Amino acid sequence: MAGTGMFDLSGRVAFVTGGNGGIGLGMAKAFAENGAQVAIIGRNKSKLNTAKAELVKIAGEDNVIAVQCDVTDKDSVESSIEQVVDKYGRLDILVNNAGVNRRADEPHLLKPEDWQYVIDVNLTSIHTVTSAAFPHMKNGGRGKIINIGSMMSIFGTAYAVAYAASKGGVVQYTKSCAVAWAKYNVQVNAVLPGWIVTEMTDQFKTAFPDRYAMIVGRTPADRWGQPSDLGGTAVFLASSASDFVTGVSIPVDGGYSVW
Ligand code: NDP
Repeated sequence: MAGTGMFDLSGRVAFVTGGNGGIGLGMAKAFAENGAQVAIIGRNKSKLNTAKAELVKIAGEDNVIAVQCDVTDKDSVESSIEQVVDKYGRLDILVNNAGVNRRADEPHLLKPEDWQYVIDVNLTSIHTVTSAAFPHMKNGGRGKIINIGSMMSIFGTAYAVAYAASKGGVVQYTKSCAVAWAKYNVQVNAVLPGWIVTEMTDQFKTAFPDRYAMIVGRTPADRWGQPSDLGGTAVFLASSASDFVTGVSIPVDGGYSVW
């Protein structure tokens, strides 16, 4: 399939971390629907296989790659990017989406190993993957990097201090790369999803019913989002429609952050 006009992604190759489920898969599908060749990476093999099958239905067997890779493993990240560039000859779009959360009742109660894990996956890995992907974008004369932040890029939270710190860092990392690489025609932006129904949040409704209801009540759209709600913004930021947009963080949140 191909997109239309300035949103057409034909001839572009996308690499989506955590593309084997949730928001990452929602974005990968939107890329495939608009003509891109898509590579997804994640740790869980069976989720990778299922996600690949869904993407193949949209884009065809030759236009999808699924690679098992932990984003905290630099060698594995570099070899998965090489695999994609070997097969398709280029890399145009990177989505740094892989993310995890660990909670504690208050900041000082978060275990040091949980702090480290969240920072490693949500923030340090973005630098690892971006550093491996950027040279291919520079060589190809264009690039789009989309980093996934959160409402916690904007707001604080008592229960997830490492998560909020990592997602705040994602915004500043995004701005810094945007400043550095605009001259190479590489745009770097962030997406800040609101409350989206995925594996990460599916316990929320039963585990924290009051908070779940508060979130719906505070969201002008009056609902949680679905991974497909992120597709349009992802395609915009991946396509030539956004060639003069760089360093911004776009909330996709049904209005949660505006009041
Ligand atoms: P999921 O748990 O469904 O997705 C997380 C993805 O990250 C999975 O595909 C997982 O793959 C991958 N992942 C985690 N750790 C690693 C790792 N070390 N190496 C490779 N892949 C990894 O949750 P979401 O789709 O909700 O989350 C996607 C992103 O969106 C995250 O960055 C999250 O913080 C962010 N976000 C989510 C919101 C929501 O409401 N759902 C709101 C705001 C932001 P695998 O299981 O194979 O490891």
